[in-house]
Amino acid sequence: MTISEHLNTLKSQLPEHVTLVAVSKTKPVSAITEAYNCGQRIFGENKIQEMVDKHEQLPKDIEWHMIGHVQRNKVKYMADFVNLIHGVDSFKLLKEINKQAQKHNRTINCLLQIKIAEEDSKFGMSANDAKALITSEAFSTLQNVCITGVMGMATFTEDTNQIEKEFKFLKTTFEALKPLQTENCNLQTISMGMSGDYELAIKNGSTMIRVGSSIFGARNYSEQ
Ligand SMILES: *Cc1c(COP(=O)(O)O)cnc(C)c1O
Repeated sequence: MTISEHLNTLKSQLPEHVTLVAVSKTKPVSAITEAYNCGQRIFGENKIQEMVDKHEQLPKDIEWHMIGHVQRNKVKYMADFVNLIHGVDSFKLLKEINKQAQKHNRTINCLLQIKIAEEDSKFGMSANDAKALITSEAFSTLQNVCITGVMGMATFTEDTNQIEKEFKFLKTTFEALKPLQTENCNLQTISMGMSGDYELAIKNGSTMIRVGSSIFGARNYSEQ
């Protein structure tokens, strides 16, 4: 099947309240163009430099989402155009995003990454740390960022029960944090689910899925 066929099949299965982020990391501009011509406007990348290069080459009505781990010293390269940063897991990072957003007179929307997996390798904050951040005095002074939701990555496992347990935990965390509305925090989005588990994620409350290989085919990192 072609990229457009994969994309159309996937989109026809999605409930209306679920937003699709097409994860185009490692894929060429031509692949993104094919998805774009099929109506897709939201693309996700996990490396800032790669996203910057693609943003320069592609139509400007694309919404670019940064879904990878963000190094503070690279925020400046994407601050003028990034639409949503999924992997925010510290106040220090938020502060830098705020500083760079301010230079461009914009507000950058961010999701707090919550650690839901059992593996040590996955980034993210605890639910308590997220709550402490949102309610802190220091956060309230950041006027050029807005926390619009939470993001999580489940354990890399075949064990569906384990994955479901982790998705349920993210949904519960979201519901617990949602009442904490402030001027720069308005939680609407639960970003969870990838090619292998997006159906399970939607069943458990996901409102935004990040799907790469099911649209663009497997990634070949050795060719990079
Ligand atoms: C690569 C990536 C995805 C997409 O993974 P697929 O299995 O190809 O759908 C989703 N989320 C994050 C954070 C990623 O890095």
